[in-house]
Amino acid sequence: MNMQSQEIISIFKQTEALLEGHFRLTSGLHSPQYFQCAKVLQYPKHCEMLCASIAQFYKDMKIDVVASPALGGIVVGQEVGRQLDARTIFTERHEGAMQLRRGFEIKPGENVLVCEDVVTTGGSTQEVINIVQDAGGNVVGTASVVDRSGGKVKFNVPNQFSVLKIDVITYTPEDCPLCKQNVPIMKPGSREIK
Ligand SMILES: [Zn+2]
Repeated sequence: MNMQSQEIISIFKQTEALLEGHFRLTSGLHSPQYFQCAKVLQYPKHCEMLCASIAQFYKDMKIDVVASPALGGIVVGQEVGRQLDARTIFTERHEGAMQLRRGFEIKPGENVLVCEDVVTTGGSTQEVINIVQDAGGNVVGTASVVDRSGGKVKFNVPNQFSVLKIDVITYTPEDCPLCKQNVPIMKPGSREIK
């Protein structure tokens, strides 16, 4: 892991975006880590710094539009769009389907960067890619602050960038070594976690 990743991880820990312990994830799996990107992005200075890596990567690619999936992607998309001086829009789920609403549109041939806070399975990013391509937009690439797949998720677009790659360790409850050691388990978002 390079120096920059170490520094970023220490900011995630300071802001409690990255917690260590014994957690029950929403999937039901157990993990020694819990990650909540919003905790670091609540500090505009950290958000600006993390998004600067994304903007730096895409700065010469003539991005016209930054598009993000609501809700998590909006904060990152807005900051990346500001730094690239690109129009910034978001998609949102309506009656189950991801859509562009609020009069947002993509014109045929526009260069679009699809931007998220966290990629886990890549599902939301892929939905935004589909919407952009259906509108005739040119998806130049994708970006996320964190890639929780450790780089395993791939999109069929020319560029893919993440500020930080994290391989999330998970265990089934039956195989969890922390359970075997009787480490108390916490549910993220509950009051046991500060
Ligand atoms: Zn456990």
